Amino acid sequence: MTTFEKLVIPETLAAGPGPGNTDPRVLEAFASSGVADHMQADVLRGMKEIKLMLREMFGTENVYTYAIAGTGWCGLDAMQNAILPGDTVVAFNNGTFSGIDCQTIRMKASTPEDLAANPLMPEPANVHVIDVPHGTSVSGEMVEAALAEHKPMWAFMSHWETGSGRINDLRGFNDACAKHGSMGLIDAVSSLGIEDFSIDDFPAVVGWASCPQKGVLGLPLTYAPVSFTDAYIDLVKKRGCYSYVHHPILAARHWAIVDGQDVEAPGYHQTHSCYAIASFHEALRLSLEYGRAQKAKDYAFHESILSDAISAMGCKVTSNMTSLVVCNLPDALAGREKELVQGCRAEGFCIWPTLSEPVQVRVGILNQLSEAAITEIVSKFADAMIKMGANHIDKAAVLAQIKARFADAA
Ligand SMILES: *Cc1c(COP(=O)(O)O)cnc(C)c1O
Repeated sequence: MTTFEKLVIPETLAAGPGPGNTDPRVLEAFASSGVADHMQADVLRGMKEIKLMLREMFGTENVYTYAIAGTGWCGLDAMQNAILPGDTVVAFNNGTFSGIDCQTIRMKASTPEDLAANPLMPEPANVHVIDVPHGTSVSGEMVEAALAEHKPMWAFMSHWETGSGRINDLRGFNDACAKHGSMGLIDAVSSLGIEDFSIDDFPAVVGWASCPQKGVLGLPLTYAPVSFTDAYIDLVKKRGCYSYVHHPILAARHWAIVDGQDVEAPGYHQTHSCYAIASFHEALRLSLEYGRAQKAKDYAFHESILSDAISAMGCKVTSNMTSLVVCNLPDALAGREKELVQGCRAEGFCIWPTLSEPVQVRVGILNQLSEAAITEIVSKFADAMIKMGANHIDKAAVLAQIKARFADAA
């Protein structure tokens, strides 16, 4: 048998779309938890408290608010499990992630014949995917037009599309769903914990799913927050779904949610990890201590400074998310985006290209809400561009401008 060296993973500056740098308090909670099984009293108390904190994070009274073990896609899978073969769906695709969501929806809404005809990307006639160009937000008018035409049972949209850095119109989506009697499903992976919004203000959206590594910053435990309205749960109760582990009703039992109510004694669903529970609990405590409104304000402020600095270096910013800047390089460097990103990543400055066409550069600020962090990110980005020949950049002037912006705000 081969024996490998002990795996050592270096500390990098995670300045991409996600994951963000995990707070030391979250890591400390992870590492200092005692070993305790999934039915131990404090683990179960932690789960109940997590459930209550998630209701605050989401701004909801939905009893079915809890978390699915795994990454963002696990929570999305649980949410999309309510879609059964033959259901009519309108789904909006405006980038990498909503594109994968649309792929999932096509699979779930397929009949066995649809699936056999194209197993990885089935094209059931009952699913209408509306392709919105990269870099464009999904507008309320687009949703209204598509729902008026197709009158689907379900409508799906990503709240914030991380592939292109675009914010989609949640209000317009909700209103169109209400008007046309569609049940709305939202991918809130990139917005929860960053934007200040309450899901109960969007009652036509019946299902929400987020993730552990972007706004919520609980990476070590990987729990994907979800929330479902009674209408959603009633439908699943009536029709069932094709999953045990990601079943929206069965998974909730371990969080002490049974028959639509919070109960004292949870029921076993799967072996939840005490380390995961301890660290996720701490991640939520951190977020709520910071305050949803304050955090949203701080993200907007820091992103505007980063975005202006990147523009000052001759890049064209095409995003409007407040945790991420997506940009085109100046004409002189056009076509060399991947080279720039690879050079940065090789030095532990982990930015990203876009994962679907067109190729752009993505620089993010998850958990980097300080003058020092923004200055470091801009400084490293400037160095990388200068190294590739962008001699027009006046790095000192760009950094001075950042300093002035923070001084003004102080
Ligand atoms: C990151 C992301 C996902 C996937 O999350 P994972 O944690 O990688 O599973 C899905 N949707 C959106 C909008 C995202 O930003």
